[in-house]
Amino acid sequence: MNKPNFRKAKIEAYKTLITQDKFSFPINPKSIKIQGQKIKVTSLQEYSQKTGITIEQLTSNGIFSDGYTISKNNINIILYNEDIETEGRKMWTIAHELGHIVLGHTTQCEKNETEANFFAAQLLAPQCVLKHLIKNGAKLTVSYICDKFKLSKEASTNCIHALSKVMDSDSKATEYDDIIINLFEPYISMDYSFNAYFDELEDRRKSF
Ligand SMILES: [Zn+2]
Repeated sequence: MNKPNFRKAKIEAYKTLITQDKFSFPINPKSIKIQGQKIKVTSLQEYSQKTGITIEQLTSNGIFSDGYTISKNNINIILYNEDIETEGRKMWTIAHELGHIVLGHTTQCEKNETEANFFAAQLLAPQCVLKHLIKNGAKLTVSYICDKFKLSKEASTNCIHALSKVMDSDSKATEYDDIIINLFEPYISMDYSFNAYFDELEDRRKSF
């Protein structure tokens, strides 16, 4: 069976992060640059307006309703649906499409979809950063991840579940972990105590 290559997806996401010129959270996938690739991100609605192609035609009657990528003349056009309810899911959709491009996917199959989703998770909320936060005493909750990394509730929950599997061992670490931590350190170190503060508030609330 063709298994998803999680390690490759993670490494490619980290390499993508390292080559940006801004290192803060939340990551805005709309402004991610990928070396050697021309990428344009636009909404289905805007694209429909410009080209005269109806939304129904663009989404094959709603099959590709969240978003997808058109690749032509060496340009990748990522189309996302402006009507997606939450900003988190919108950003996830774009990050997912970036994953397909970076990982060189040319077909749609379960393996590629899983890899693109894992890429999106590692791009928006890198596992090494989450591990680092925990090691420094931060308490990761779904609402904290939603807030800090601008993920949907569902994606944040998945991040926490995935994290609990890799927390015990360092076997899933990559050669890029330390670089990522160093680059983003100024934007995460404030949260070591920030979270402690929240905990304290929570405790006080409970005691009332
Ligand atoms: Zn996909």
